[in-house]
Amino acid sequence: MTAERLIACHECDLLQREAPLTGESVLRCCRCGAELYRNHPDSLDRALAFTVTAIVLFVIGNAFPIVGLSVNGDLVETTLLGAVRVLYRDGMWPIAGLVFVTTFLMPLMQMSAMAYLLFPLWRRRLPYRPDIVFRVLHLARPWGMTEVLILGMLVALVKLAHIASVVPGVALWTFGALMLILAAASAAFDPHDLWQRIGGHYRAAPGPEELAEPAARTAMASGLMTCHDCGLLTKAAPHVHDASCPRCGAHLHERKPASIARTWAFLIAAMVLYIPANMLPVMNTSSLFGSAKDTIMSGVVYLWTSGSWPLAIIVFIASIAVPMLKIIAIMFLVISTQRRSLAMLQQRTRVYRVVELVGRWSMLDIYVITILVALVQFNALATIQAGPAAVAFGAVVVLTMFAAMSFDPRLIWDATEHDHG
Ligand SMILES: [Zn+2]
Ligand SMILES: [Zn+2]
Repeated sequence: MTAERLIACHECDLLQREAPLTGESVLRCCRCGAELYRNHPDSLDRALAFTVTAIVLFVIGNAFPIVGLSVNGDLVETTLLGAVRVLYRDGMWPIAGLVFVTTFLMPLMQMSAMAYLLFPLWRRRLPYRPDIVFRVLHLARPWGMTEVLILGMLVALVKLAHIASVVPGVALWTFGALMLILAAASAAFDPHDLWQRIGGHYRAAPGPEELAEPAARTAMASGLMTCHDCGLLTKAAPHVHDASCPRCGAHLHERKPASIARTWAFLIAAMVLYIPANMLPVMNTSSLFGSAKDTIMSGVVYLWTSGSWPLAIIVFIASIAVPMLKIIAIMFLVISTQRRSLAMLQQRTRVYRVVELVGRWSMLDIYVITILVALVQFNALATIQAGPAAVAFGAVVVLTMFAAMSFDPRLIWDATEHDHG
């Protein structure tokens, strides 16, 4: 590897020389402060060890009940997939699907893809078709939400404790450990190092003569494109509309295609659904004392009045404040970018980063409802069912995540370039 490769910032497109890093350190963009590259000593060994541990924990976590509820000597228990099945049976298949994808399928895909890439390399062999597996990993990563699931389990536990005596299951602790180990595995996983080890034609770095002296400050102005998936910088072939990355095969674009229009579309859909998500009941509880319909807000009020005010605050932030602030923040980003505003470029990039980071936490209420619905099924005594707002709310969370993913932060910085636009 040459010591000073050229790299483009994925958030502002500025071209920079890559400084070789030693020890545990981070290289940041000198214009917008985005993390360009993180150096991990022994990343391969550590990432593999954490990944294997995570897979074991994942299997245990899904084999045992999360939580049990004992009423009149009867113990009702549920596993994660059991809870999904109850939702599906109740006709709540959009929620069942969402929970299944975010807590089971995507984490499983992420761990399997990491193990698939790391294990052969650890044995000094090459994985077969690392390009495809790498893209699967890139796809799965933002949608695995084990850490949000854990918080959802805890909130559900507190709510259930008001109904009957709660027996925490093995899986509760296992998922807690899984959350930490999976985070450690993701942190230790170093795509940069991985591509270096795979080498061969997958390394496919552009020739040094090609990138020796960039024509302009940004990649786009120099006729270069960064791969969204693997970060490889390549020379853009002029007038080729479906160029693909020579390393991982992902489609290449100078900027995310139709970024502004797509972001608006997702955002408007999210705003429309935000209304029923807050007005309609998310949960129907029927018991001997009659039936009650809870909206998201009344659920927060209930937690507050029953003395669990820390949880009331958490649920309020995750379910009400975050979706609303996220919609407002993305709207601000899109409008200011459309107006080609030159104000607060750095701060706006930072807003984008925060939006990407916190959006997932809104899934909290969906997980709480899932667990409550799965456990409170005593026909005579009490039954909880998911209400129509749960579907609308789940859609709001997914749509705002799509909106954030469609927005291209490099457009913020394009306003500073005179020759484009
Ligand atoms: Zn940057
Ligand atoms: Zn690529």
